[in-house]
Amino acid sequence: MKSHYRVVVIGGGVVGASVLYHLAKFGWTDVCLMERKVLTAGSSWHAAGGFHALNADPNIASLQAYTIDLLSEIEKESGQSVGMHMTGGLTLAGTPDRWEWLQSAYRTFQSIGIEDVRLVTPEEAGELCPIMSTHGILGGMWADREGYIDTTGTVHAYAGAAKKRGATVIENNRVLELHQTADGWQAVTEKGTVTCEHVVNAAGLWAKQVGRMAGIELPVSPLNHHYLISDTIPALETLDFEVPMTVDLEGFTYMRQDQKGILLGIYEVDHDHWMMDGAPWEYGFELQQEDTDRIERELTLGFERYPALQEVGVKTWVNGAFTFSPDGNPLVGPVRGKRGYWSACAVMAGFLQGGGVGKSLAEWMIHGEPEADVFGMDVARYGDYAGNKRFIKETTGQFYTRRFVMTYPNEQLPAGRPLKMAPAHADMTAAGCRWGASYGLEVPLYFAPSAEFTEKPTLKRSNAFDIVAEECKAVRGGVGLLDISGFSRFEVSGSGAAAWLDRVMASKLPAPGRARLAPMLSETGKLKGDLTVFNWGDGTWWIMGSYYLREWHMRWFQDHMGEGVGLRDISDATVGFSLSGPNSRAVIEKLTDGPVSALPFMGCGAFDIGLHRCKVGRLSVSGELGYEIHCNAMDHAGLRRALLEAGAEFGIREYGFNALLSLRLEKSFGIWSAEFTQGYTAAQTGMDRWIDWSKDFIGKDAALRERDTPPAQVIAMLEVADGDSDASGYEPIWQNGTRVGFITSGGYGHTVGKSLALAMLDRDAATPGTELMVHIVGAERAATVIPASPYDPDGKAMRA
Ligand SMILES: Cc1cc2nc3c(=O)[nH]c(=O)nc-3n(C[C@H](O)[C@H](O)[C@H](O)COP(=O)(O)OP(=O)(O)OC[C@H]3O[C@@H](n4cnc5c(N)ncnc54)[C@H](O)[C@@H]3O)c2cc1C
Repeated sequence: MKSHYRVVVIGGGVVGASVLYHLAKFGWTDVCLMERKVLTAGSSWHAAGGFHALNADPNIASLQAYTIDLLSEIEKESGQSVGMHMTGGLTLAGTPDRWEWLQSAYRTFQSIGIEDVRLVTPEEAGELCPIMSTHGILGGMWADREGYIDTTGTVHAYAGAAKKRGATVIENNRVLELHQTADGWQAVTEKGTVTCEHVVNAAGLWAKQVGRMAGIELPVSPLNHHYLISDTIPALETLDFEVPMTVDLEGFTYMRQDQKGILLGIYEVDHDHWMMDGAPWEYGFELQQEDTDRIERELTLGFERYPALQEVGVKTWVNGAFTFSPDGNPLVGPVRGKRGYWSACAVMAGFLQGGGVGKSLAEWMIHGEPEADVFGMDVARYGDYAGNKRFIKETTGQFYTRRFVMTYPNEQLPAGRPLKMAPAHADMTAAGCRWGASYGLEVPLYFAPSAEFTEKPTLKRSNAFDIVAEECKAVRGGVGLLDISGFSRFEVSGSGAAAWLDRVMASKLPAPGRARLAPMLSETGKLKGDLTVFNWGDGTWWIMGSYYLREWHMRWFQDHMGEGVGLRDISDATVGFSLSGPNSRAVIEKLTDGPVSALPFMGCGAFDIGLHRCKVGRLSVSGELGYEIHCNAMDHAGLRRALLEAGAEFGIREYGFNALLSLRLEKSFGIWSAEFTQGYTAAQTGMDRWIDWSKDFIGKDAALRERDTPPAQVIAMLEVADGDSDASGYEPIWQNGTRVGFITSGGYGHTVGKSLALAMLDRDAATPGTELMVHIVGAERAATVIPASPYDPDGKAMRA
């Protein structure tokens, strides 16, 4: 063992081995993997080794596809067999909604370029998997590149290929302590102390403790998981092919062939957390006793789906633990405030996702950012709030229980809630508010007319459609009030504030008393934020953005910090309301003596509103005349009351984010995670119109290159032929049978009375008037490219 490595990877499971391999492959060979016992000694040795294509996040689905392709590559490079069985795979739908959802999922695959999938009838599914009962199956999806591998062989193949490229693996050497140094980390191990620039937490079942070694409370917990391996099934002995990897979503099981028997894995509705503070250090190649009572219902369904199980015995039971984050996706990336500490843990499906995790992390370490948009597995999608043990228990448990349960886009799940509530929460609830959650905060969705109203989960338009329509009407025709506590606010001050903002934001900075939309770019010209910068004129500035990106943005700001800059996240200390609609000026004027009505569009300043000392910006996401009014958290409930009282004579109505999403769509205003992501550039998304080309800023060189060579795809507005559902995102778009793009977000425009969508389209197909086809919830619908902003294209309402 050397005394210094560039990188120390902690953990020799599939994830650590993949990280090591990718670092070496991309040119960093002074890298060392430390393993407590021997390679695979965590979850990896007892995994079922299955891999399949489906993931709710298309970016993660793409990385899964990458992993599947990689397996044969590492086998070749290392000379170690991965035991590949590319049997193909089936995903089964057992309810009408699930079948519709699966058809949509199939379309999403087309959107992201995964072509080797197709839909199958129950009869075809039965032919593909002859040992399966097709009872209750309405349809399925077949994927060519699904199957299973030998788990131990795969870990050794990753590690062997890494070693051939110059990386080091040291077994039987536990990392005991980590200490941050001026230029990296010191790792105290059983075999001595080493220093390194970077340390990677790939400690799987022990990730919690390896996080705590650096003072980090990672939102991760192990849960137990069962599978059984059956004795020989006579019907399999007569087949000349292996049955496919089969996922029965309504049955909570997955199945693959294992020699001449089958392996049946169970997603347990009655979940079982195990060692929430991390596995014991002495834990080795052990398993938990099976608990068939706890999984009786799922087992019964499995035995009905594969009737041969009723005739043969169980050869082996496996009940072992693996790790989960609150949303089930991995926790990957640099940890804010711990320079050189990287997370590569909570990887629930390491054999399916490990390749993508290793690739993305290695790119991030070496090049500063991963090639793909990996926000869905970025450790910074959670903040400190998620380190709470009860939050972790509730959310990981909910995810596990619902792993194969269908979640509808309009469904609000209860785990870990309510966590954070703005002070007017109780009053708003009494007024009928129905809530969603964002980054732990309760945010208003809409206001129900009665306590009895229940929104039914659906893939189509919900029974809250008319309520949202009324809220939109109130905003467009009168005045609406929206709680905007669910935006982030960063305060920037100090002698270096303006210079720093000027460098990190690609736009011109606002003059004193003004606000400005500000794209933020990475060095490669990809978007890092769709922010609004406020210049309060007293030496302080605000950056406003999406609440759920708080940790993610803070990490970026701190990594690109300047001299003499004070930066504070004031999002929970400062909350507020948006007053929006043609009567909003009349309402705010009633509450202030100050010259609030003289505020120009995009102007901002400090005003007393009623009894409250507020900061006001004249802007609105709804596209109407509007004011965003910010106050201290303690003023929130009082400010709401004052605004509602003043607005009563104008018929003021409270509304929620569902209405705001419709209103902004009618204005073609993009939102983060849909039209704006770190996968897209400024010119692709139209953000380039805010760039100040006369100054220097991060990403300028890349943005200039893009200006010279415009991108092949751009965002455009679509009108979709009416039906009973609206687009949501990632639906493929066709022009005369050729795929020309995909939808980024969609919804119903209640003012214009049309189903609308924003889409990423090939430039040639993005001209207004172009006739296209889209697939929405399983149905083909005509769509036409229309000019941007179908409501008030000249922006007169906003500037009134
Ligand atoms: C029953 C079951 C079935 C599964 N089936 C599948 C499947 O079909 N497909 C799939 O993709 N996934 C499956 N999984 C999940 C899969 O096992 C995990 O996703 C994967 O093993 C996670 O790998 P890892 O490298 O993150 O963690 P681990 O495999 O837990 O590896 C972590 C390693 O870190 C080492 N370590 C920890 N702390 C230290 C330290 N301080 N110093 C040095 N070394 C340390 C440990 O000894 C261990 O070897 C299954 C899991 C279970 C339990």
